[in-house]
Amino acid sequence: MRVNLLDFDRDGLIGHCAGLGEKSFRATQLFRWIHQRGVADFTQMTDLAQSLRLKLHDCAQVQDLRVVSEHVSADGTVKWLFDVGDGNAIESVFIPEDDRGTLCVSSQAGCAVACRFCSTGHQGFSRNLTTAEILAQLWHAEHELRRRLATTERVISNVVMMGMGEPMQNYNALIPALRAMLDDHGYGISRRRLTVSTSGVVPMIDRLAQDCPVALAVSLHAPTDALRDSLVPLNKKYPLDELMSACHRYLVHAPRDFITFEYCMLDGVNDQDEHAQALVQLMRHGAGRGVHAKFNLIPFNPFPASGLKRSPQAVVQRFAQHLQDQGFVTTVRKTRGDDIDAACGQLAGDVKDRTDVGRRLARTTISISNFQNPSSKHEH
Ligand code: SAH
Ligand code: SF4
Repeated sequence: MRVNLLDFDRDGLIGHCAGLGEKSFRATQLFRWIHQRGVADFTQMTDLAQSLRLKLHDCAQVQDLRVVSEHVSADGTVKWLFDVGDGNAIESVFIPEDDRGTLCVSSQAGCAVACRFCSTGHQGFSRNLTTAEILAQLWHAEHELRRRLATTERVISNVVMMGMGEPMQNYNALIPALRAMLDDHGYGISRRRLTVSTSGVVPMIDRLAQDCPVALAVSLHAPTDALRDSLVPLNKKYPLDELMSACHRYLVHAPRDFITFEYCMLDGVNDQDEHAQALVQLMRHGAGRGVHAKFNLIPFNPFPASGLKRSPQAVVQRFAQHLQDQGFVTTVRKTRGDDIDAACGQLAGDVKDRTDVGRRLARTTISISNFQNPSSKHEH
């Protein structure tokens, strides 16, 4: 079997090339061809020695994911459904905004955490993605979008690990993927523009601080253990006290950073005044005291099996105002790509249901003319 070079960060590629008798600068050149230029065909890598190109041809490949479908929303959001074999599919979503282009990346097929309000969670856990499968989502999206937009400039400035799966339960595959995203010879995404979102896997929060301290988002959703236990089952293993301590520790090495707390607004469940008050209590006087925090309220994206409803807009605003009045920076997430089921927590990727694939394919539009290339406005 030929090794997939998307499985390596640059150090990994250097190690692999050393095994082929190649110097490290050759591996860096190869890494740049793959990630900066999007080239998969070794014969096109013209500054590599012919002998190396032949060697690579025999033992290696740059293996993209297989696209099942691609949907483009009226607002310019693009969603890809990728086949990862055995009836499993994963999704990635590109969200263009005025000042940035964000890719939402999946880390697992399904998810074992089983949050009540999440359609990926309802689907159960199939398997961890490999580093190559995580990184290929960015490789595919970035270079495909550049081709469509006829640009050589970077299109994706931000990556959020907020697609399907719990990234911290696939830690070993996650880290090399993050490193390749950060690498100036790779995608050059800045540390603060690369976000890992977690439901609260405490030991891995500590490891991430050591191994790859990128921006951290914690899916909080509730101010008390009793309520959080019922929404995010992992809370029973790592309750709020422990989770908040881990957040403290995460920020020790980066005092200018903050933790983004995500809070999915569920009608009548966690969106009342009492919940806002309890949240302020937690962050001002409880375990969260002193954690430099921002809040991101996410309007719940309903799906039938959840039995839950989205909070009315006025309730979301009231909750946000309550937090703001107490001095917490609070934003309300705009829902994007609603018309193509690309919004948060709607990613289910069910190729198992063949009829559904047919329906999805029928709706596929391959046109991205309705968004502007945001890269012209990026800081580089
Ligand atoms: N497993 C990680 C990352 C993927 S989920 C985590 O839970 O953080 C990314 C975000 O989407 C999380 O904050 C999650 O709580 C939120 N989410 C899940 N289902 C949702 C839904 N139906 N509506 C709105 N947000 C949802
Ligand atoms: Fe898994 Fe995150 Fe969904 Fe919870 S919200 S089930 S952790 S993907």
